[in-house]
Amino acid sequence: MKMNIKNLNLYYGDHQALYDVSLEVPENHVVALIGPSGCGKSTFLRTLNRMNDLIEGVRIDGEIQLDGESIYQENMDLVELRKRVGMVFQRPNPFPMSIYDNVAYGCRVHGLNDRKKLDEIVERSLRGAALWDEVKDRLKSSAMGMSGGQQQRLCIARVMAVEPEVVLMDEPCSALDPISTMKIEEMVAELKKKYTIVMVTHNMQQAARVSDETAFFLNGKLIEHDKTDVIFTKP
Ligand code: ADP
Ligand code: ADP
Repeated sequence: MKMNIKNLNLYYGDHQALYDVSLEVPENHVVALIGPSGCGKSTFLRTLNRMNDLIEGVRIDGEIQLDGESIYQENMDLVELRKRVGMVFQRPNPFPMSIYDNVAYGCRVHGLNDRKKLDEIVERSLRGAALWDEVKDRLKSSAMGMSGGQQQRLCIARVMAVEPEVVLMDEPCSALDPISTMKIEEMVAELKKKYTIVMVTHNMQQAARVSDETAFFLNGKLIEHDKTDVIFTKP
């Protein structure tokens, strides 16, 4: 068991955005979160690495465990937590620095400066993101010159470089063209051999293609959750 969410309620001030949500996210699975806009998918995703802590007025009750340990305990190291539970956003957000430095960034934050090790990690991560062949001759070029699809794969490489256990993805393809979307879907199929993935998508076909389990949200509630092949073959 990788993440276990029990009876989670979340309030933005007076507004309750999540109602009694419980979900188990097994290791090496892709769990897709589906539902209409405003139903709480992103809010739920952001509680899994405590990104919501950054928003003023947020209140949470319930339990979220990573490998059996509460991530909301008081002495939790949030930098460490976000290394273990990485996040890929809807819009690619490369840092305005070189391709190499983008991928090496997280490792440097965590104190790794050995050039040879960084070289290895950068190559391994870019290969994992199916980007190595496209960029190996221009690692020193700015990431801002890449296409949107390349930038999103770079952002995935940047997350993988620190070897997270769980990768959260918030509609990672919604800003991308169909070919880039396909590449990312192929990559997700590879990634789940190593990582646990929780992915928000508004695209049912995408959920059916990439996920092992699907959870439907509606008005802040998790209304259905099952294996994806069961959900999509129901009469
Ligand atoms: P999404 O594309 O995930 O549905 P939205 O467009 O709803 O995102 O929201 C974009 C940003 O605005 C998010 O960071 C979200 O937290 C914030 N946001 C959404 N609704 C509100 C609100 N009612 N009050 C303040 N911030 C909000
Ligand atoms: P989804 O990702 O499914 O589109 P969100 O999690 O972005 O939904 O939003 C769920 C609800 O919480 C919406 O009513 C939204 O307006 C509200 N919300 C989201 N972010 C904020 C925020 N930062 N402050 C206040 N309300 C928010």
